[in-house]
Order: sequence, then C-alpha cells, then structure tokens
Amino acid sequence: MTEKLDTAQKQNDVTKIVACPTCKKSVKWDQDNIFRPFCCKRCKLIDLGEWASEGHKIAGEKSMFVDDDSSGEF
Ligand SMILES: [Zn+2]
Repeated sequence: MTEKLDTAQKQNDVTKIVACPTCKKSVKWDQDNIFRPFCCKRCKLIDLGEWASEGHKIAGEKSMFVDDDSSGEF
C-alpha cells in the first residue's frame, strides 16, 4: 500500500506547466507562484475584471431607466 503512495508523491513532484488564462504564457504551477494559474498579478487582475474596471469605467450611463414603467399609459 505504501508503494502506491510513493508513486503518487513522485508524480506530484513534477512541476506542472500551465498556460496563463490571460496571456497564454507558460506558467510553472509552483507553490511559490501565488498568482497561479496566472503568470503574474496583472493577469490575475485582468481575469478577475478588476484591471478592466480600473481602465474602463462605464461613464455616461446615468439614470436613463428611471422605472420599469414601460406600459405606455401614464
Ligand atoms: Zn499572464
């Protein structure tokens, strides 16, 4: 039974390479990489949408829709 565990550990030891979901760069799936599966903090933020919301804030869409009162009769 212990032999099986040993094999599993060996497989775990191999550093996995993943593609960053944002920029598709090869990223080492390492415990040191706190941004995994992303290559860097920026890519992580982009994926989370935080980066995008920082860059493009939706402006000009104020209160066009005041109420859901679209029956036509007023
Ligand atoms: Zn990336």
